[in-house]
Amino acid sequence: MAIKPAPARLVIVFGDQLNHDAALLHLLGSRDTVLMMEVAQESRHVPSHAQRTALFLSAMRHFADELIKRKHAVRYINLDDPKNTGSFETEIARAVAALKPSEIVCVQPGEWRVLEMLQRVASSKGIALTVLPDDHFLTTPAEFATWAKDRSALTMEFFYREQRRKLGYLMEGSGKSAKPVGGEWNFDKENRLPFGKGGPSPRPRAPITFKPDKITLAVLAAMKSVLPELPGKSQSFAWPVTRKQALAALDDFITHRLAKFGPFEDAMWTSEPILYHSALSSSLNLKLINPKECCEQAIAAYNAGKAPLQSVEAFIRQLIGWREFMRGVYWLEGATYANRNGLDQRGELPNFYWSGDTDMACMKACVGEVLDTGYGHHIQRLMVTGNFALISGVHPRAVSDWYLGMFVDGVDWVTLPNALGMVMHADRRPGAAKGVTGLVGTKPYAASGKYIQRMSNYCAGCRYDPGERAGEKACPVTVFYWDFLIRTRKQLAGNQRMAMIYKNVDRMTPQVMTQVTVDAGLLRKKLGIDGASTKG
Ligand code: SF4
Repeated sequence: MAIKPAPARLVIVFGDQLNHDAALLHLLGSRDTVLMMEVAQESRHVPSHAQRTALFLSAMRHFADELIKRKHAVRYINLDDPKNTGSFETEIARAVAALKPSEIVCVQPGEWRVLEMLQRVASSKGIALTVLPDDHFLTTPAEFATWAKDRSALTMEFFYREQRRKLGYLMEGSGKSAKPVGGEWNFDKENRLPFGKGGPSPRPRAPITFKPDKITLAVLAAMKSVLPELPGKSQSFAWPVTRKQALAALDDFITHRLAKFGPFEDAMWTSEPILYHSALSSSLNLKLINPKECCEQAIAAYNAGKAPLQSVEAFIRQLIGWREFMRGVYWLEGATYANRNGLDQRGELPNFYWSGDTDMACMKACVGEVLDTGYGHHIQRLMVTGNFALISGVHPRAVSDWYLGMFVDGVDWVTLPNALGMVMHADRRPGAAKGVTGLVGTKPYAASGKYIQRMSNYCAGCRYDPGERAGEKACPVTVFYWDFLIRTRKQLAGNQRMAMIYKNVDRMTPQVMTQVTVDAGLLRKKLGIDGASTKG
């Protein structure tokens, strides 16, 4: 009797799934074909920074080469292939027609939109679809849902503590009596230091960079002909595009920057975009490296006396706490999470988010660095570009789209809860209890120019004065801050964490309040934000 051949499967690997050790790769059989696609639509559905697109495509090409070396069959669609149909959906349909697979298999994508597309294609072709869990992460969506069940508020800190217990990172003792090393779960109070007047001293060592190789240069050439319109500059491209490079970047961070990461993680300084940050988020989000190896190397540095606890704990919290928490929220809340607009803000994103052309020194520096490199560190994202969008009344979807496309590490599962939830405080669940104004944040991260003055040197070189909210030198950040508090008062009034802040608003005379409202309205008009909500 003839033996029936094993079914041939179409195994899709997306650009943010370049995990060299994924269980999926160990399951590949000799009749399976891996499909990898470079499609223009993925750089256009939100405008994608040239370096973000180049990074994804170059890393994909390197990964495909690895698979071919491992003797796997790969159907790779180049961006500038004349037969390229331009979208995942049409390319999968073309592959199904050509290869006639019995099944489509892939790891859970990083975006609801892509998951729904896969389901649509499989159903229209009458073909089975198997979606495997993503073994890069430390927590499954089901585990997160169990943790979140019956909690009215999802507090990252509590999730993080459970992660520490579960993983045993920086813990002493075992079982229920396990305690955090150093007696504290976090060292935030010691970690929010600004630099002194002279700035970071000694100057942080420049991070390791990676000159574009032949593959990256070919990608950049293809982009020039197919996607010439992309925002951002590609000239300075130096991101890790292989696992080997990503591991070198991890080692560079652990050896040269981790020790000072904690104390200065919230500080900013002109022309120092990385400071002591790891800048590993793109390598992590493309899955070139995994959170476990990053944490273990940081803990090894602590055990060897090369980095203090306050820095190592802060780094680990970002990976096992914040990053996994964001992903949990993304899958828990469903595809409609993206449409939330809890503060009813409706303004346009000002043009300077695309050009850096503004006389606000803080925005010019932070947006300029994003345009130049596709990167900004977390406080620049949250407290400069994010804070401005929040307090000036920009629509949260315009903000989350900008964050998704303009950063090299932009992937929806992390960008959306970060931008829409943390930055824009827009993710209040419909029907949430009175006083609950957001989901991932208990209160908006709104700040005046005074915060930026304290945490950076931007204001020293600015034509505005962060302490002024009226007149020639009035700082737009400060004007919008007070206007934000005034116009969102009804929405935020029941939030206990805002009570102290509103006491300051109560000290304003009606005339001053009116002046702030009028000035903010004029500013919004001037910056093209118009249409910002006046509700509340
Ligand atoms: Fe930004 Fe205002 Fe400081 Fe200028 S004065 S850098 S606009 S915060």
